[in-house]
Amino acid sequence: MKAVTYRGVGQVAIEDVPEPKIQHSGDAIVRVTRCAICGSDLHIYHGHIPGMVPGSVCGHEFTGVVEEVGPGVQAFRKGDRVVGTFHTACGHCPMCRKGAYNQCREYGVFGYGVAFGNLPGSQAEFIRVPYADVNLRVIPRELSDEKALFCGDILTTAYGAVRNAQLQPGETVAVIGCGPVGLMAIQSALAQGAARVLAIDLLRDRVELAERLGAVPIVASETNPVAQVNKLTGGLGADVVIEAVGGPRTVALAFELVRGGGRISAVGVTTAESFPFPLATSLTRDISFRIGLANIHRDIDATLALVAGGRIDPEVIISHRLPLAEAVEGYRLFDSREATKVVLIPGE
Ligand code: NAD
Ligand code: ZN
Repeated sequence: MKAVTYRGVGQVAIEDVPEPKIQHSGDAIVRVTRCAICGSDLHIYHGHIPGMVPGSVCGHEFTGVVEEVGPGVQAFRKGDRVVGTFHTACGHCPMCRKGAYNQCREYGVFGYGVAFGNLPGSQAEFIRVPYADVNLRVIPRELSDEKALFCGDILTTAYGAVRNAQLQPGETVAVIGCGPVGLMAIQSALAQGAARVLAIDLLRDRVELAERLGAVPIVASETNPVAQVNKLTGGLGADVVIEAVGGPRTVALAFELVRGGGRISAVGVTTAESFPFPLATSLTRDISFRIGLANIHRDIDATLALVAGGRIDPEVIISHRLPLAEAVEGYRLFDSREATKVVLIPGE
């Protein structure tokens, strides 16, 4: 089958690789109908994820049709239309039982190399899904594959970040980064009751898209975001700050934007081991700081329902739809920020 493989820093390729087979009784084989390129795939593309061996199949966002199930799979059968979770969980270890699916003892991320479970990715014609009963959801009949696609990753990541910040109705949220995750955070914050969302990015076109989604635009390369947020909040700062870029610089910015007693929720992926945490200021200003990988299984049913109910429209961020065979160009477009979100279509 055709698949997108990692080939080294800044290089992906379309290659013929063996089709996946059922390996364990809980596995399903899914024929991929849609997959996407995520900001997290760019960390691989930039060579920042250790354990990505050249030749590994990339990608972790996908929808598809169940092709085959192992004997232990109960909830799915051949022909079911499904969306996959970008990370896997076993569903039965002590962590899963606590609802901490992102801490599962068998945690893995599709297409993220040996450090993340060594699972071949979804930018391919077929994918093997372990613990299929846990890591797949049926797509509601009224939703197209493209509307459901981001529920397996960026939408639910963003929704969970807002939920982790314990947003109260009527609060003001600042979102740092208007890439796909930030744009989904804007929609999620509004769906969860935010009165206002202040959208910050360096790129004007991304902030303009955020504005079309209902946010107040702040172009950080043209104006000082701290001054703007202060001005818009009467000098208080934002009740909640969502950090959706990754790394010390934007986390530091979050501390400057949040009001006393406010909450920061960071989801940007970083490989920086440490960060100069503003300890005394956070103590006196009563700041809550939360960071973590998405817990997709906790929130995916909520996001599917919100999309099905028309409260969130994830499709609006798709700028490019390309055949899987054009994935090399897709990565280039997304990495250069010419594309907001690239969806790849296998078999075209
Ligand atoms: P992206 O790279 O497409 O978007 C990042 C955006 O941040 C871009 O629009 C960029 O212009 C903007 N930006 C960069 N520096 C900035 C700055 N200093 N100030 C303001 N804006 C700045 O990525 P994405 O797909 O939107 O993902 C965002 C982050 O979320 C990535 O790090 C990704 O790996 C991460 N992510 C985390 C999880 C998780 O489980 N925690 C899940 C999915 C994605
Ligand atoms: Zn992702």
